[in-house]
Amino acid sequence: MIKKLLIANRGEIALRIHRACQEMGIKTVAVHSKADTDAMHVRLADERVCIGPAPASKSYLDMKSILAAAEITGADAIHPGYGFLAENATFAKMVEEHNITFVGPHPDHISLMGDKITGKKTAQELGIPVVPGSDGAIKSVDEALSFAKKIGYPVLVKATAGGGGKGMQVATTDAELKERFPIAKAEAKANFGNDDVFIEKYLRQPRHIEIQILADTHGNVIHLGERDCSIQRRHQKVWEEAPSPVITEKQRHDIGEKVVNAMKKLGYRGLGTVEFLYEDGQFYFIEMNTRVQVEHPITEMITGVDLVREQIRVAAGKMLTLTQADIKIKGHAIECRVNAECPETFAPCPGKIDFNHPPGGLGVRVDSAVYTGYTIPPHYDSLVAKLIVYADDRPRCLARLRRALSEYVISGIKTTLPLHRQLAQNAQMLKGDYNIHWLEKVFLKGK
Ligand code: ADP
Repeated sequence: MIKKLLIANRGEIALRIHRACQEMGIKTVAVHSKADTDAMHVRLADERVCIGPAPASKSYLDMKSILAAAEITGADAIHPGYGFLAENATFAKMVEEHNITFVGPHPDHISLMGDKITGKKTAQELGIPVVPGSDGAIKSVDEALSFAKKIGYPVLVKATAGGGGKGMQVATTDAELKERFPIAKAEAKANFGNDDVFIEKYLRQPRHIEIQILADTHGNVIHLGERDCSIQRRHQKVWEEAPSPVITEKQRHDIGEKVVNAMKKLGYRGLGTVEFLYEDGQFYFIEMNTRVQVEHPITEMITGVDLVREQIRVAAGKMLTLTQADIKIKGHAIECRVNAECPETFAPCPGKIDFNHPPGGLGVRVDSAVYTGYTIPPHYDSLVAKLIVYADDRPRCLARLRRALSEYVISGIKTTLPLHRQLAQNAQMLKGDYNIHWLEKVFLKGK
């Protein structure tokens, strides 16, 4: 079993991983940039190594420094968290070549799913339904126009190497496509160093529904139901809930079974999330994330399974102790992403937190690495905390969420807490009647 694990990440997920390790009797090594010397996970870890200056490219993305830190401290495993190097196949490979356990899937599976076109093609071959779109990269505006004619507008131009909602452009006419195709290519190049783009049918009112899976290296795969992540801004998730307000038990079973069978055929290992758009009773695969997700806690709340613990166990070669029949979905959970951003303009708002008072009580969980007196550095993403609330059913979960939000105080910086307070009492949210465009096109527009 793993004795010492290096956490190649920062913020709340670094703390989340540290907590799982503590409970498993695994020692932890925190690696951090100079901007994170005072971070909570750095304070709590058994050992700490400074790996470089503030910019992520010189610290959290510096593969050689991270591997050197693992060698020096004698860590026998590396957990990449999410973001940074979590879906970097080269890093995963390097880790394994150093005889260190990578807490994640086989590097080949990271590469396969890291490229959206091969990911989609693979999903389709494995029997998973996909969004209609081009089979490969679309090279020129002319090619884009003729493909759009074939599938009909609106279309979405997407970066093959995309992530975090970047490099996506919608076009509803030939004129728009002519204008936006080069923008998508330029964005793809700037963000991912690869300007390949492809085209998909743009779905008008879908929900974002994703299936959580867990696989060991002995051929066992289970799913842990779905999460509804339709409340998004700029293709980024803001509020997530599980189970989805619109998915029936039969639909969950059917799509879950398809995904599990596909992952068995693929020989996938570890945690994974298969993301779908869902419209009129149909699921359309968009991508697979080969890592732990930000929103994993809501699945933990409704299933009672510690996903990070299971992820570490299977990475160490242990067999799953859970079977599909053990997974019982119970109650309802909601996660609000609290960002250090102005709630109206969404401009980042780093700075010093002069008072932090998270809520508590039955069914309330706060995953956060900030504390009173902590200064949020401007170099990284703006997630400050995840407020996760659980109750027996959705109405009670919403009531508990409103109560928890009313207790929550973070002062000194602006956060998106006021946005969540409004969402938690919005009539359409209470009905669960929303889709991926609702937050931006209806809720925020009306302000
Ligand atoms: P990323 O890797 O950048 O997160 P995804 O492919 O997962 O990109 O898509 C992110 C979000 O963009 C989805 O949750 C959805 O809101 C929107 N989106 C993606 N594909 C489509 C599509 N074909 N039609 C409509 N919206 C889409």
